[in-house]
Amino acid sequence: MSPHCTRELPEGSLGAKNLAAALTAIDLSASQGAAVIGLLERARVPPQPAFYKLLYDYVSGVQGLFSERVRDILAEGDRGSSAVGERLYAEFVEPYESHETVERAIARITERLQTLDVLLTQSVRASAAQSASLAQASAHFGAPTLDTGLVRDWVGRLQATHEAMRQANVTLVGELQAAQAELDGTRADIERSRESVRRDPLTGLANRGGLDQALGAAIKAHHASGAPLACAVIDIDHFKSLNDRYGHQVGDEVLRIVSRALLASARSGDVVGRPGGDEFLVVLPATDLPTANVVADRIRSAIADADLRGVLGAGTLGGITVSVGVAPFRPGDSLRSLLDCADRSLYAAKRQGRNRVVVDLAEAA
Ligand code: GH3
Ligand code: MG
Repeated sequence: MSPHCTRELPEGSLGAKNLAAALTAIDLSASQGAAVIGLLERARVPPQPAFYKLLYDYVSGVQGLFSERVRDILAEGDRGSSAVGERLYAEFVEPYESHETVERAIARITERLQTLDVLLTQSVRASAAQSASLAQASAHFGAPTLDTGLVRDWVGRLQATHEAMRQANVTLVGELQAAQAELDGTRADIERSRESVRRDPLTGLANRGGLDQALGAAIKAHHASGAPLACAVIDIDHFKSLNDRYGHQVGDEVLRIVSRALLASARSGDVVGRPGGDEFLVVLPATDLPTANVVADRIRSAIADADLRGVLGAGTLGGITVSVGVAPFRPGDSLRSLLDCADRSLYAAKRQGRNRVVVDLAEAA
């Protein structure tokens, strides 16, 4: 059985303690709030703050890339699936909850800073004591006659304050070096943790958040350089019946196979990701529409030719095919409108019989 079906929702990890806290944290209008509660009840999703926040964003239309997927998952709930909460959690909550590394890092840095504070205070005190000794010594040495015993006494005292000062500085420098090493390690931990929240755990590809970021960066680069940019949305054909027939574990393995075929067909510089479900996205920087079409068809045939014998046994499963929608980034486009164009092409590919590539209709017309 799939992990989606068996996983318990870790209630304690959902952030704020209760819905009331979330309601006060999110400034909501009464009608949107009621709509969210209605959705939670309809989908039998527990009214926990993370789900509330997700569906509130969905109702308010601020989810961008997310909203279509949320709509699909809710529709599955309407069709009787009881796993809506698990799916929402796995796709939208869990990947963004990796605050632990950052919290641990902050605790370590705070501890270091407290130690440094104590050491700095000690160093300042030692320095003040040395200055006071020097001032006193210079007052004594200003006398018309100098007593050698007195001089010896003062040299000893100055040596002692100087040694205290030196010790304090050595400890301080040591602690500063340790703090620097700690900060370097922490920076690397945070970077690794940031990287992992942008990955889809099933396939290792960029997830929705990672894709959002990569596509945003590609659009920026396109504006800066003027080089063309395109994207391809890939959706497995009849994946639901494959799942129904062979079970989710086989479905998951097919998702992994498709992701490997995508990576093998992509060029360096392309970004391959899985925004959710059986849908994949390939961002194609510096690629005009005819080239994007060629790349997309290479992806399509690589998947059609993928070897599935290890998954189901020879002869059991014919093969898997995908439909692909391609769109170019045009002047005035946004991340959303680019993806909408690619989606429209994808739906056209499905309508035209699947296992094919369709380029953006507006461009092709
Ligand atoms: P179409 O050719 O029109 O795309 O038909 P389809 O059956 O593929 O329809 P659709 O794309 O809507 O179905 C997607 C299915 O993917 C439904 C859902 O149960 C399944 N699914 C979503 N996420 C996962 C996952 O992580 N693992 C598995 N095994 N199945 C998933
Ligand atoms: Mg599909």
